[in-house]
Amino acid sequence: MTLTDSDTTLAPLEFAVTKNLAAKSPAQREEILAAPAFGTVFTDHMVDICWSSRGGWHRPRVQPYGPISLDPAAAVLHYGQEIFEGIKAYRHADGSVHTFRPDRNGLRLQSSARRLALPELPVEYFIQSLRELIAVDAAWVPSGEDQSLYLRPFMFAKEAFLGVRPAQKVAYYVIASPVGAYFKGGAKPVTIWLSEDYARAGKGGTGAAKTGGNYAASLLPQAEANENGCDQVVFLDQDRNVEELGGMNVVFVHKDGTIVTPQSDSILPGITRDSLLQLAEDRGHTVVRRSVSLTEWREGVASGDIVEVFACGTAAVVAPIGVLKGRDFVDEQPIGELALSLREELTDIQYGRREDRHGWLVRL
Ligand code: PMP
Repeated sequence: MTLTDSDTTLAPLEFAVTKNLAAKSPAQREEILAAPAFGTVFTDHMVDICWSSRGGWHRPRVQPYGPISLDPAAAVLHYGQEIFEGIKAYRHADGSVHTFRPDRNGLRLQSSARRLALPELPVEYFIQSLRELIAVDAAWVPSGEDQSLYLRPFMFAKEAFLGVRPAQKVAYYVIASPVGAYFKGGAKPVTIWLSEDYARAGKGGTGAAKTGGNYAASLLPQAEANENGCDQVVFLDQDRNVEELGGMNVVFVHKDGTIVTPQSDSILPGITRDSLLQLAEDRGHTVVRRSVSLTEWREGVASGDIVEVFACGTAAVVAPIGVLKGRDFVDEQPIGELALSLREELTDIQYGRREDRHGWLVRL
């Protein structure tokens, strides 16, 4: 009998754990958790796993959170060979800690890895890496309303070599940062700037991968949005179809209840969007994934055919779009109730307040 991939299950990695002797005191931690600011404070530990073309995945460790030492010639610093993920851990009323659809993030990290010529971390190792971090830093998962621990897995080319080719030495890390409600006082509608001069991704590019360069490319248009009094940018493709915001997907709700969301291979496939649309389908909505032109958006709002537009992603969960602003127009967007109702259903599942009928939660 020959063994195929599907017959084998990977043995878990054996992590070497070094406890942080300078960990924050419970009092210091509680003070931070009382009002966490997104992405500014990190837990006491981090996880890392090395990869080399000769040795594969090796040296899995849990160590004190701290600076990484890199050779100045490390390829990531020159050519941006890097990918990442974003996923949250939620504390339930009984004290247990859960994460949401980690297999999806693990698979997306693999697909980002393929595009960036990085090694694919097995999904089992990805989920184990989250577990190992929570095993030492569980006390950092906050229990306040809308709070969570944001987990940031990332992988980069560590090899010191200035040739342009896939690195033969790579590092994978997970760090974590406690976060509070993204929007204070509930999900208030956001104002969106239409980027006409800049694209985030192109056909055949890296738009569908979660890689640093896409976000670097979004900074200048984001600054332009801020200068124009907007919160976020929406990007178009070369045919003036709607793609997505800098860090969130876009969803349109039509008068007949149909929900439409842009489909293209230069958009990051969001796990929040996929989950919200599943919940909408469960309620009987028809969901259509297809191209949506800017004209269709603007005319749909003007005619009343589009009754709600919202953005979604792990960090903010759902943000209703209140205004679309371009160089020579300002379109008020209709505000409906579906976005916030789906948001409530999703967060109820994530925080264990409602039955997880799709089996999306994984206890850490
Ligand atoms: N698009 C982009 C460009 C993003 O960075 C994100 C955040 N990961 C999303 C969409 C939403 O994805 P998710 O719902 O998986 O967080």
